Amino acid sequence: MGKEPLKTVIIGSGPAGYTAAIYAARANLSPVLYTGREPGGQLMITTDVENFPGYPEGIMGPQMMEDLRQQAERFGTDIKYELVDRVDFSGDVKRIFTESGEEIPAHSVIISTGASARWLGIESEQRLANKGVSACAVCDGFFYRGKDVAIVGAGDSACEEALYLSNLCPTVHMLVRRDEMRASAIMQQRVMKQQNIRVHWNTETEEILGDTEVTGVRVRNNQTDEVTELPIAGFFVAIGHIPNTKLFEGVLEMEESGYLKHEPNSTHTNVEGVFVSGDAADHVYRQAITAAGTGCMAALDAERYLGEKGVI
Ligand code: NAP
Repeated sequence: MGKEPLKTVIIGSGPAGYTAAIYAARANLSPVLYTGREPGGQLMITTDVENFPGYPEGIMGPQMMEDLRQQAERFGTDIKYELVDRVDFSGDVKRIFTESGEEIPAHSVIISTGASARWLGIESEQRLANKGVSACAVCDGFFYRGKDVAIVGAGDSACEEALYLSNLCPTVHMLVRRDEMRASAIMQQRVMKQQNIRVHWNTETEEILGDTEVTGVRVRNNQTDEVTELPIAGFFVAIGHIPNTKLFEGVLEMEESGYLKHEPNSTHTNVEGVFVSGDAADHVYRQAITAAGTGCMAALDAERYLGEKGVI
């Protein structure tokens, strides 16, 4: 005889997954949460989080994830430190396959697999990560107020983040690798109008400078080969994100960029009983608080679905 299907399985362990777990556990859905290879997700590589409501003194990203994990466990979430490497959502009962070869049947699935920032991939970027190098201006910009910074990228995110930084920093150097930007016309116009954003065209990052903290960046003009050092205290990377949704290719509807599609104002994917929350479906807001909010929505949607199916 096969295993009895679980009521709900949550895949992913960032703020979306843990929040879904807290709500699902408190609704007696006995959730089982698979953390994936990086328990805690993107917040594990963040330092101070000062914009999550409820922490007047701020909180360290890893501590916040530990708190969320404990809160999810307190109400009975079963946390498995394992990777889900295949899913089969074709039947009424969904099937989840773990890396260790286990097959888990479930009546509903909440996807909270998040996204990962795209990095330049140079050595100094890794060495100075969290020491002045960041992939989130909204999270970390405040730490560089009154100081000059650089941001690399030329999409809507880079423009948005450059504008955000320009309200905090005297000079924002925007490093654009081509002679034009990918961003929408309106975002480009806003950037060009902002007096303290200095756009460096045809410019590539050679090295981020500094031993224990960022002190500058060495850039090269790829047309003239001229090398320049810019003194900065913060280096922001805004060259896009990669949603962690490879697992669902051919299984769920997704945008060309890999973000999962869902019905408007809900977390329902195109497959009944499968819900999505957090950055796996969000390339616009991408905040811990918005991920947590959609995690809550996914658990409520799953509960309603299970009620309608007569599972609970
Ligand atoms: P994106 O549109 O893919 O842009 C990435 C940018 O990074 C491009 O300009 C690209 O340069 C540059 N880049 C990539 N690799 C690089 C490298 N190694 N070195 C230097 N530059 C590099 O990503 P995004 O800006 O994160 O936007 C993602 C999606 O979200 C887009 O559809 C965007 O419109 C949307 N979005 C919308 C809003 C809004 O509407 N308010 C805000 C944010 C994002 P090239 O152009 O040379 O390839």
